[in-house]
Amino acid sequence: MSIIERALAKAKQEDRVAVEKAEGLAHRQEEAGRSMDLAGGGEARGHEAESGGGGDGAGAGRSPAVVGAGLRANAAPVSPSFVGETPPTVAAPVAALTAERAQSARLGTALDATTCASSGPAVPPLLCVEDLCCAFDVSKPFLNRLLEREPRRWLKAVDGVSFEIPRGETFALVGESGCGKSTVARLIVGLYEPSAGRIVFDGHDLARVTRSAERQKLRRRFQMIFQDPYASLNPRWRVERIIAEPIRVFGLERDERKIHAGVAELLSQVGMSPADGTKYPHEFSGGQRQRICIARALANRPEFLVCDEPTSALDVSVQAQILNLMRDLQDELGLTYLFISHDLAVVRHMANRVGVMYLGRIAEIADSRTLFARPRHPYTRMLLATIPSLAMRGQRADLVRGEVPNPITPPPGCSFHPRCALADERCRREAPLLRALGGGQQVACHAVEEGRDHE
Ligand code: SF4
Repeated sequence: MSIIERALAKAKQEDRVAVEKAEGLAHRQEEAGRSMDLAGGGEARGHEAESGGGGDGAGAGRSPAVVGAGLRANAAPVSPSFVGETPPTVAAPVAALTAERAQSARLGTALDATTCASSGPAVPPLLCVEDLCCAFDVSKPFLNRLLEREPRRWLKAVDGVSFEIPRGETFALVGESGCGKSTVARLIVGLYEPSAGRIVFDGHDLARVTRSAERQKLRRRFQMIFQDPYASLNPRWRVERIIAEPIRVFGLERDERKIHAGVAELLSQVGMSPADGTKYPHEFSGGQRQRICIARALANRPEFLVCDEPTSALDVSVQAQILNLMRDLQDELGLTYLFISHDLAVVRHMANRVGVMYLGRIAEIADSRTLFARPRHPYTRMLLATIPSLAMRGQRADLVRGEVPNPITPPPGCSFHPRCALADERCRREAPLLRALGGGQQVACHAVEEGRDHE
């Protein structure tokens, strides 16, 4: 064997070890074949690359690398230093979490008020997300890495996100593009596989539901509305067939006459004429197309809707109509929403509670009224300062400073520190944990913890 062949074999062996190390961490290997496609999933999947899997910094088109494994259901978010290099063994993040939790307990503060376990509120939430992580392999091809002597690289799109949504409420995730909010939505509906953490829907850990019939039953109870109403509708199908698809896929009705009547009723429910069922998607305006998407999402009588920027592709006047329609449907049908948006005015109109995300992590969670009246995290303040207001007439607006760092090589410590006016040495060194402040507000910031945010 020549020297070159030996070097190649050695490099391949090292590469295989790196992949095995990552895959060996999979906490969900047993569900490797699991696919939680939505009804009409073919369209949804075709649409996903376009509407921002990568748009949220997730490395569009790449499958999530299975890392952080063997982690117990309530395992820790992997250390930020993990991003951009070969993932560490599982022992490191678990040890890090144990240390963090011990420190948190010593400080007498809650690490994170959200737990999906029994100790929760009397009425359990409909959806509970716990320490959710998702990493994508963004390495160069093998030969390039070999020649350039580069290790595998990982992008942590979602890093230890936890929240819960009570039945009948709207929880909004906000943040700049690339913060990971759409990736969270896609993880919840099963379009991506989480690297670690738990998603508990009505008491069922989605990762543990392996029986096909049970999965189908659960799947029927949630749906997703996508950002681009045109791309998420099959242009070759008539509207009636599009809306009836979930009814047929889930076997909710076999009688074609009843399906036809059901579609007509759904169209009326979203403010369209039953006669529109015979038309094609291109015959409608953007707002009407989004109404068709909502009708399709309601076809399998879901309880929970994941709305990924449902109005961002629409005109402002049409946005208001769609948002009002969604609120009316929520009141009428008792729906629960996860609402993803970067538009704070829309979020204020829709949400009961709001989670602010920055570079894959939750920076602040609070009920909508508190968040808009008394934001605590410097990033939340920065975002709120950008909302135009009549009271600010003639005054200089406090613009958002700096840019979101590269998520493959995020800054050490608090990832917001290069843009934060309150950053100090501790911020550059140590990532802040999400701590409960009372009144349901949780903030991940050293300055808030030390009382420096009022200075
Ligand atoms: Fe700013 Fe430090 Fe708080 Fe991060 S932890 S938001 S850098 S004060």
